[in-house]
Amino acid sequence: MNMKILQNVLDRQFFQYQREYEEKALEVLRSGWYILGKEVTEFEKEFASYNQSRYCVGLASGLDALWLTFRILGIGEGDEVITPGNTYIASVMGITINHAAPVFVEPDNYYNINPDQIEDKITDKTKAVLAVHLYGQAAQMNQIKKICKKHHLFLVEDCAQSHGACYDGKMTGTFGDVGCFSFYPSKNLGAFGDGGAIVTQDKEIAKQFQIYRNYGSEKRYHNKLIGANSRLDEIQAGLLRVKLTHLEEYNEERRGIAEQYLAGIHHPSLHLPVTAAKSSSVWHQFVIRTKYRDELRDYLLEHDIHTLIHYPIPPHLSEAYRCLQLPPGSLPVTERYASEILSLPLYNGMTQEEIDFVINTVNSFDMTGQKNR
Ligand SMILES: *Cc1c(COP(=O)(O)O)cnc(C)c1O
Repeated sequence: MNMKILQNVLDRQFFQYQREYEEKALEVLRSGWYILGKEVTEFEKEFASYNQSRYCVGLASGLDALWLTFRILGIGEGDEVITPGNTYIASVMGITINHAAPVFVEPDNYYNINPDQIEDKITDKTKAVLAVHLYGQAAQMNQIKKICKKHHLFLVEDCAQSHGACYDGKMTGTFGDVGCFSFYPSKNLGAFGDGGAIVTQDKEIAKQFQIYRNYGSEKRYHNKLIGANSRLDEIQAGLLRVKLTHLEEYNEERRGIAEQYLAGIHHPSLHLPVTAAKSSSVWHQFVIRTKYRDELRDYLLEHDIHTLIHYPIPPHLSEAYRCLQLPPGSLPVTERYASEILSLPLYNGMTQEEIDFVINTVNSFDMTGQKNR
């Protein structure tokens, strides 16, 4: 059989509602208003409501949502923020852009921050905990929230991969002070370009974001502080409004694919992803784990099935963070995961033939004779 399967395909979800997206894009193009207008305002209302939040502020990216959050919470030089070691590097950059120090905690069996290891890392410099809902699954928010309350720490959530995921029936992004979202095209709620947002229940915090995102000005040419240019544009906001009306459906489709993988993949050397009791997952990625990761990856590629690794180099070992002086071995669980994880293809619009082909090909991988690393 000859079937090329990419790890992610972005145009299929577009074609599922092509007419709606094209109509909205044309509407905005013809409106003559492209920055901070009706589409952004309406999207903010709709996304706040979807997330059971009082306020939403549209921004230019997920990274901006993160670094502006720490800036607005007053976290900077001399402060520490507890963050998962197993995350996308943007989570860490949001902290270090403000000259605060990341303090890493190892992942649990669900790849999220291990809540049992957070308290050990709290010092008198700790100001916040950053929880990341990685691969679409909500982190252990009850326990994390309790720790933050007890130690008077801010709680920030990185929801870049968890649009629509819940913990104990409550939306991710609503447990802490600020929930940070990315609308990078490959995210569950992806724009057709860059975008981001925050949600919060706090009116004053929301107002600060509105000021910061627009050069520190509330009133034109009256700049209160040194802000940023971090505005979600009208076309992206309009397209996100269209996509938001279909998000539950898109997430349901991903869940269906994940359930087929979970039911269909049987392999003695593979760990399939597990969802924690009170968490839901929106399956941003379907991440499996095996000692034979590189061999499996090559084998799948021989059959034209493309995979990715999220992420091959943990932030603390990246060149950018050499300054933290955390040598290999500093975070053994994170590092082992980085050498064993593999993200199978999973995207909206994946066909039944493609799903079956991935399942059958993974199941036919023969690890006898593979070197045990
Ligand atoms: C994508 C992502 C970000 C950054 O979002 P951008 O919009 O690309 O800046 C931050 N954190 C996590 C966990 C992400 O997956």
